[in-house]
Amino acid sequence: MLKKLVKTTLSVGLCSMVLSLPISAEPVMYNTNTGVYHKTTCRYVKRSKSMIKIDKKQAVQKGGRACKVCGG
Ligand SMILES: [Zn+2]
Repeated sequence: MLKKLVKTTLSVGLCSMVLSLPISAEPVMYNTNTGVYHKTTCRYVKRSKSMIKIDKKQAVQKGGRACKVCGG
């Protein structure tokens, strides 16, 4: 009985967390050397040491360009 209650409370908490996230906040890996931003899963992300994780919006504001391989 108690376990069921805890489970319900947890899933409700997770739902409201997801809903509170703004849609535009898409994380990308931004290369501070070249100004190119990548998807976090892009294979080029692992190769570079100058990657920072920021919002796609911020990367564009910095004058960043989308990666040709992953599309940013
Ligand atoms: Zn890429």
